[in-house]
Amino acid sequence: MHEFSIASNIVEILKEKFPSPSARIQKINLEVGKLSCLVPESLLFCFDVFRREPLIEKATLEIAHTDGKAFCKNCNCDVVITELYSLCPKCGAFGLEIERGEELKILSVEVDYV
Ligand SMILES: [Zn+2]
Repeated sequence: MHEFSIASNIVEILKEKFPSPSARIQKINLEVGKLSCLVPESLLFCFDVFRREPLIEKATLEIAHTDGKAFCKNCNCDVVITELYSLCPKCGAFGLEIERGEELKILSVEVDYV
C-alpha cells in the first residue's frame, strides 16, 4: 500500500524534526495534490497505525486536497485538472504538461511540549 509508506515517511520526518521526548504534535497540515494518486482517507487510516508514537498520538491530520495544474501546448492555456491523464478541458487535446498537483507537502505543524 503506497499510502502506508508515505505515512511512515511523514512520521519519520517529524521524529527527526522534533527529537525531544516531550514534543507532542497537535496538528499536521498536509497538502496532497490530486494527481499524486494518494487517497486522503487511506492516508488518514495508515497514519493511525503509527499512533503508538507519543509524538503523534494526539495529532490531527488536516489534508488539503489540491487540484492539479497543467499547460496545454495545443491551445496555449493553463488549465485545472483533477486526474493525471486528463484531456485539455478547453480543447480536448492530449499531452498536457503537468505543472503541479503531484506533490505531497507538509505545510505546517503545531507542536506542544509537555
Ligand atoms: Zn488545450
